[in-house]
Amino acid sequence: MARYTEAVCKLCRREGQKLFLKGERCYTDKCALSRRAYAPGQHGQGRKKASEYGNQLRAKQMTRRYYGVLEKQFHHYYEMATKMPGRTGDNLLVVLESRLDNVVYRCGWASSRAEARQLVVHGHYTVNGRRVDIPSYLVKPGDVVAIRDKSRQSDKLKAVVEANSARPVPQWLDVDAPNAQAKIAAMPTREEIDLEVDETLIVELYSK
Ligand code: SF4
Repeated sequence: MARYTEAVCKLCRREGQKLFLKGERCYTDKCALSRRAYAPGQHGQGRKKASEYGNQLRAKQMTRRYYGVLEKQFHHYYEMATKMPGRTGDNLLVVLESRLDNVVYRCGWASSRAEARQLVVHGHYTVNGRRVDIPSYLVKPGDVVAIRDKSRQSDKLKAVVEANSARPVPQWLDVDAPNAQAKIAAMPTREEIDLEVDETLIVELYSK
């Protein structure tokens, strides 16, 4: 399973926006973007004006990195989005939100999407009562995602859940905290997705 392994704070600095890739650190003044709010590298503080293509590329890269998805899979999600009714840009974000690792993160059961991905791979969650260890698994309305009974006894998972319990959970997830489970009440609307990106730029990029 391929994944990005370089220093992740550079990605936020490159996109000029917090992508919340490092868990708790992202919410503290240790956040690298708070300290150095410019792109990394020798020319990071240089030319700011981007071309039309540059803006489209940045929108795509930022979204891809926010969800921790590699290029090939991201393009696959775009293809899926084009076949769904409604606006392709909105559909793309909804597909990304419906990944199991994102749902686990949104429920506050992991500090970051990267951690959620690892916990999913280690088999700590179920969907509709069955263990699912595929981070890219796409949930749908009515599905119930839960922490496995055995995993609920794990000190590590208890600490992770406790540490993230104050993080707001989006309304499209109906979380039952005492039973460590969440029902997908509906798929999110664009307004419920907090990523600050102009998704139409991504559509324009892929439509060329
Ligand atoms: Fe991004 Fe988090 Fe690093 Fe801040 S601490 S730059 S939000 S990954």
